[in-house]
Amino acid sequence: MDANTIRAKHKQFLFPNVSNFYSESLVPVKAQGMSVWDSEGKKYLDFFAGILTVSVGHCNPKVVEETAAQLRTLGHVSTLYPTEPIVRMAEKMASLAPAHPAGWKLMFTSSGSEANETSILTAKVATGAQDMIALRHSYGGRTATALNMMGHKSYRPRGSEIPGIKHAHAPYCYRCDFGLTYPSCEMRCAKDIETLIQTETSGAVACFIAEPIMGVGGFITPPKEYFQVAVPIIKKYGGLFIADEVQTGFGRTGNHMWGIDNYGVTPDIMSFAKGIANGAPVGATMAKAELADKQTYSSIATFGGNPVSMIQALATLSVIENERLVENSKVVGGYLRDGLNALAERFTQIGEVRGMGLMQALELVKDRKTKEPDPQGANRLMEATRKRGLLIGKGGLYGNVMRIAPPMIATKGDVDDALKILGESLGESATA
Ligand code: PMP
Repeated sequence: MDANTIRAKHKQFLFPNVSNFYSESLVPVKAQGMSVWDSEGKKYLDFFAGILTVSVGHCNPKVVEETAAQLRTLGHVSTLYPTEPIVRMAEKMASLAPAHPAGWKLMFTSSGSEANETSILTAKVATGAQDMIALRHSYGGRTATALNMMGHKSYRPRGSEIPGIKHAHAPYCYRCDFGLTYPSCEMRCAKDIETLIQTETSGAVACFIAEPIMGVGGFITPPKEYFQVAVPIIKKYGGLFIADEVQTGFGRTGNHMWGIDNYGVTPDIMSFAKGIANGAPVGATMAKAELADKQTYSSIATFGGNPVSMIQALATLSVIENERLVENSKVVGGYLRDGLNALAERFTQIGEVRGMGLMQALELVKDRKTKEPDPQGANRLMEATRKRGLLIGKGGLYGNVMRIAPPMIATKGDVDDALKILGESLGESATA
């Protein structure tokens, strides 16, 4: 099939909200390592990694080999039978969990949405409370509860609302809801969670769910004290803290395996997907053992912990460890950050550079003083980088944040290439 046929059939047979990037969508046909090729044979340097999912590079040979071997051996049995791959993966994840004397237990599903849905249900069952706190600008997923915890209007169709979810102010310092400046704000956004609980809930809270860095929201990076102020408030009202590590997990933020490790708090429950398995549809919820042990209702996840996807996840984790990719995210991410900061000195349409490790964003504005968002500028930059052979992502409530997150195997040389293209593209899109 040629690219135009694929585009036409996509329009004809898929729901219209399965939307694609670019004015004329890009049709990938193959990929390897840091590179993606389209149907016209054009090669792209991938700095978005299938939405932060291809953590160890496209078609990573070790991952492909081990997964293919498992596919030939035992493809599917459902959660009704224990297999070696599911217990190996659960044990591996528990060994990577934050310190907790009673240990951790796992529930595998097939997506980040299901992981969050399971995390929230786990908290509701464990606490007996119904109300939950999510963040404005957050992204939760497509399932009912996850969809309603989103703080982003375009993902919330009319009529989908379910009760019991309250949205706290996001730690979005660049656009502080209170008009304050960090650090003199003294974490007003976090402290306001107490007022939210006192005024909008029954006073009993099941959980607070938050992304350590808000991904779809535009890599909004909370100040280092944020969770240390927010989480004790939740605990005071009986709630549990769920870290949504779907984007920030597996070394993406550089210093640590988990994004929340950057903030000095321990979650009670964690949600994972995306980078966990280099593209296999794996979701996982990890809960402290005493919380998991309260989940005694019946539950089947037909595809959860499928032997093929578990082997793909285990192979991905072993590449992350053996090739020291957490360290690489830190070093190469720091190099990327320096380069983006240098671009911000040259191009005034960059309002803010933010992020951690290999999860970096540029927020584009029409004017640095008014901070008016520039979604058209973001669209122009997407087109300009595509033309030059670089894939990046876009996000933010206003569609004006460029999201830059390559596979964690990226080298400084890859970053040099990406920065060169970004610089040329910023120059072109500024004057367009
Ligand atoms: N949580 C976060 C932080 C996400 O970024 C996403 C996906 N963008 C999800 C949950 C939902 O994941 P999925 O698309 O796999 O359902």
